[in-house]
Parts: sequence; structure tokens; C-alpha cells
Amino acid sequence: MLTPPAIYADPAFDMAVEQFRLIADYLNIDHNDRDRLLLPKRAITVALPVHRDDGSTTVFTGYRVQHHLTMGPTKGGTRFAPSVNMGEIAALSIWMSWKCALAGLPYGGAKGGITLNPRELSIRELEAVSRRYMQEMIPFVGPHTDIMGPDMGTNEQIMAWFMDTYSVHMGHTVSEIVTGKPVFLGGSAGRRESTGRGVAFLVERALDFLKIKPEGCTAIVQGFGNVGSVAAEALYYKSGVKIIGLSDAYAAFYDPKGIDLDQVQVHLRNHPDLANFTGASRIDPEEMLVQPCDILIPAAVDRVINGSNAGRLQCRILAEAANGPTTPEADVILDQRYNEILLIPDILCNAGGVIVSYFEWVQDLQNFFWNETEIADRLFRIMDGAFTAVVKRAKTEKIPYRRAALAIAVERVLKAKQTRGLFP
Ligand code: GLU
Repeated sequence: MLTPPAIYADPAFDMAVEQFRLIADYLNIDHNDRDRLLLPKRAITVALPVHRDDGSTTVFTGYRVQHHLTMGPTKGGTRFAPSVNMGEIAALSIWMSWKCALAGLPYGGAKGGITLNPRELSIRELEAVSRRYMQEMIPFVGPHTDIMGPDMGTNEQIMAWFMDTYSVHMGHTVSEIVTGKPVFLGGSAGRRESTGRGVAFLVERALDFLKIKPEGCTAIVQGFGNVGSVAAEALYYKSGVKIIGLSDAYAAFYDPKGIDLDQVQVHLRNHPDLANFTGASRIDPEEMLVQPCDILIPAAVDRVINGSNAGRLQCRILAEAANGPTTPEADVILDQRYNEILLIPDILCNAGGVIVSYFEWVQDLQNFFWNETEIADRLFRIMDGAFTAVVKRAKTEKIPYRRAALAIAVERVLKAKQTRGLFP
């Protein structure tokens, strides 16, 4: 393979490359096909000048990477975070491709973002930078080219500003340009909850597979944003799982007797984060990950399960709700612990979000909407099919679940590329 362009230099990108190299070797993919499969098709950087409330001007940097255009438009979220750079966004776009392919969605992967901390901007400034971002992206996106969605640091309001900016430019409402919008603006029922719900569904599926009853099981959830909170609440309220560890970017808590999620909800109604939560004892966030539990759910950022803690994990199921939470070094260790820890790999575990985004896009295109039960049924059917396919492949070829998931996904994209051919 070629050395990837220097613009992608970032540990998350190195990780996506290493994962791909391993799977390409496993599948014996011809060297002539490897760069074509791996390297993003388009990578866009934009400068976003914004008037600040104090009268000054700040130029933020925005990115969008469209990984491959072989199976339909590209699809993926938009991340607002201080860590955002071209390499991280490119890695996330590659993972989106494998995720969409595994779920059988007619998309290539994409991802975008702006390097900023949303908590440091006023609502007016956030609106200005969001609109400017979509404005600058208009030449490169479209309902049949690239469809944005939410990710870390973005929400329904930001998706509504994106949709409005694009629509004003076109002269009519184009709901299908963005997913994750409010339901009354063409959003889908259940989109906000879909990633977390999908995670909880697969955790239950895995428990069932291991013949363990969910009632009384213990879970540790890292990250209490849109994904972690919905997954934790579904497991806690619907399945009777005890949440013994919980954290966000500001604090981590641990109580082997279980944390009361009612109390957490009350706290978050009045506070922006868990920093001053008093309902459980504090724990070092790193230590939280290695406490004994049935279910460990990393639902925050990438590379948190690494060479130094993978050997110390004490969970039965590792459900990767975040994108890229486990490094290749950790994978080597987890592969050896195959019989101890059932891994639900990220491209499967957190696919619920983009699956319901796909439903939102389809509903917008046909202006015909489904109710929440129909959405949940269709979501679980796809996730169940993908889980079953991964388990089957892993069993037949005696390989770990991540390798099985990536093998199915990468093979599908490869087949599409080979069948379409190379032009000219
Ligand atoms: N950000 C989500 C993900 O990482 C979903 C993106 C979308 O809905 O387009 O899968």
C-alpha cells in the first residue's frame, strides 16, 4: 500500500489503516485494490469566519471527508469538538463505510466536523458557525451526493440550521439533505434514541447468546451523552440491569450496589454535566473501566481500550458504542481473551444511528413517514441480521467478531468496486 497522504496524520487514522491492513491480509485482497478501498475519495477543508459576540472575528476550521462513492451517496455525522482534525475525520469516514456496508445500507461513509468546543460559544455564535459550515459545503453535498447527520457535539437544532441554510440556497425545503432533524421538520421518529437503543438491543442479544439473564447483570458505561445515556437507561429501566459505573468527560462514578438513574436524570435536568453529581462515589475514570462487571460500554471517544488496560478488563461483554474505542494493540489481547470477553465491534454495535438516519432519508425522499414502532421494528431487524451474520462468520472461520464484521463489510465494498470497474 502507498503511504497515506500527510494530511491524514493522526493516531485514529493510523488505527483505521492498521485495521484495514489486517483485514486485507486476512481476505487476501489484491494489492492493486487496497489503496482504492482505503484512501478517501474526497477530503475538504473550509475556513469558517464568524463574528463573535465581543465584536472580534474568529476563523474556525471545518472538514468533510467522503470515503467512497461506489454504492450510493456518502453518509455520516458532523462532529463539533476541540480534537477534530482531518486525520480523525478521515478515520471516522472509513469506519462509516464499513458500518454502512455491514448493515446493508446503500451508502459510502463520510464524516465532517469543526474544530471547536461548543460549550465555549454562545447560541448565536454556534448558529453562525453551523450555517457557515453548511454554506461552504454546498458545492460538495446533496441528497444524492453526501448526506450529513449528527455526531459528538451536534444536535437536532444544528441539523435544523444545516437544513435551513441548504434549503434557503436552493429556494425550497430540502429535508433530505440532513438527518437527525427535529421530528416536526422531517426528522424520523426514534432517531435521537436510535444509536443507544441499538446498543442496548445488541447487548441483550449477546446476553441471550451467552444464556445470561439481563436482570441483575451489572454494567459500566463510559460517556453519558446521547448514546451512553439512552443505552444505560434502556438496560436499566427495561431490562433490570444494574449500572455500577458511569462517567462523562468531567467525572466518573462507581457503586457496586448500583447507581440510581432517576437521580442522575434529576441532576442532569439542572446541570450541564456530571461534575457535581453526589449520588455515587467518585472513581478514577481509568480505574472505572477495569472494575468487574458483566457489560462494559465505552460510549465516548476513540482509543480508550488500549494495550495497557485490555489485559485488565473484567467484563463478559464489551459493547463498543463509541467509534474506534479499541486500539489494534488491545485487539491482539482481546483476541486471546476471545472465550472470556464477547466483543460487539463498533461498526455493528453503534450502527443503530445511521440505520435510522437511512430511514429518515428514505422517509424524506418519499414524504411518507413511519411511526416509532415501525422504526424500532425495522431497526432491530437489520441489527439482528447483522449480528447473526457476524456470529456465523466468526464461528465458521474461527475468527474474532471484529474480524468477522470487517470481513463482511470490506468484501461488500470490494465486490461493488470490482463489479462497477475502474473508469476509464
Ligand atoms: N454519527 C453517527 C455514527 O457515527 C451517525 C451518523 C449519521 O446518522 O449519519 O454512526
